[in-house]
Amino acid sequence: MNGTLLIGYDVERIPGRVPGEKWVGQPLPHNTAEMFLEAVVRIHREVGVPATLFVVGCNIERLRPQLEACLASGLFEIAQHTHEHFPLKTVVEESPDNVYLPGLPFDRIEEQLARPVELLQRHLGVRCRGVTAPYSYYRGLADRPDILEIIARHGMSYVRSYGRNCHDYFPLDWDVQPFWYARQGFSDLLETPMQGWIDAQWRREHGWQNWAAYHEYLKEQVERVAAAGLCWSHCQHDWTSTLYDEQLTWTRKFLEHAAERLRVMTHFDFYQRLRHQRKETAARVAGVRLTDFNFRGESSLPKGSPRDRENGNL
Ligand SMILES: [Zn+2]
Repeated sequence: MNGTLLIGYDVERIPGRVPGEKWVGQPLPHNTAEMFLEAVVRIHREVGVPATLFVVGCNIERLRPQLEACLASGLFEIAQHTHEHFPLKTVVEESPDNVYLPGLPFDRIEEQLARPVELLQRHLGVRCRGVTAPYSYYRGLADRPDILEIIARHGMSYVRSYGRNCHDYFPLDWDVQPFWYARQGFSDLLETPMQGWIDAQWRREHGWQNWAAYHEYLKEQVERVAAAGLCWSHCQHDWTSTLYDEQLTWTRKFLEHAAERLRVMTHFDFYQRLRHQRKETAARVAGVRLTDFNFRGESSLPKGSPRDRENGNL
């Protein structure tokens, strides 16, 4: 299998605020996150594929029993979706809705990223390896080395923040593949972009009840990723997954379809794989150079060559 699928579920329901029910167009159950986690561990066990849960920090303590069950299955990585789901960068959509979301002032960002790291450790004994940035942005955090510095300092290895195109909207082009934030000075920090459409936007535009059409859309993306050997970080939310599908029947269908065609990994396993590949490549390049050097060192240059003169062989 050439293509790779990273499934990341954003567990983010904060009644009264996330998601905006006006934007969704209908009310959602207060216990959406609990319902979702209880169903998602069941379907992942049934299909036998891994995934990453990106949980907002302010819900970690309350969701501890459900999150523990996910960990016990051995199929889930738990990472964070910031403490309270505020945008880290300003979003200025050129879209039918022209959504504008002002980014959090810089002096509030560290707390939003640090608290979930501490809460995951305290309540679940989990070391937080990555973060999904609320709303996602054009270029991810490539233009915010100040935020990348905070993420790296708190021990995280990857960021999922690049989900929008140059119109600060969707779909994000498939050319955008995982990359290291090396130019910004964080060569061990990986971006895992979310290409295509975010589920919430696609389904809002095509009708929340229209699961069949959304499933077709997802299947097309699976074919594309498999054919071109791409890496796709797919995003679903607790509240989108349970909306008109409390048992996650459609999500399960997607897992079954994808599992036959793509390598399915958690985000942190993918990170480790990429780091390992990078090390191997570096060792190979170094090996070639060493051989090259040895060859030149041992070669019998004609007598009287500059090298012989240097070596005192004349
Ligand atoms: Zn979110």
